[in-house]
Amino acid sequence: MKVSVDKDLCIGSGNCEATCPEVFEVRDEKAHVKTDPVPEDQEDKAQQAIDGCPSGAITKS
Ligand code: SF4
Repeated sequence: MKVSVDKDLCIGSGNCEATCPEVFEVRDEKAHVKTDPVPEDQEDKAQQAIDGCPSGAITKS
């Protein structure tokens, strides 16, 4: 599983980092993906971050 953040959509809310700090980090008011691919044991939390993003900025592949 890979995730990416659309920087144009991200509003820097920090939800993703709060939910899954192993994968997401907010810097300069934008979320960045720290791990590619997402570690298997983080996939559930990464999915929760996707579902909880208020602007729909995170996609997975
Ligand atoms: S939850 Fe969505 S909008 Fe908020 S920082 Fe993460 S990617 Fe950006």
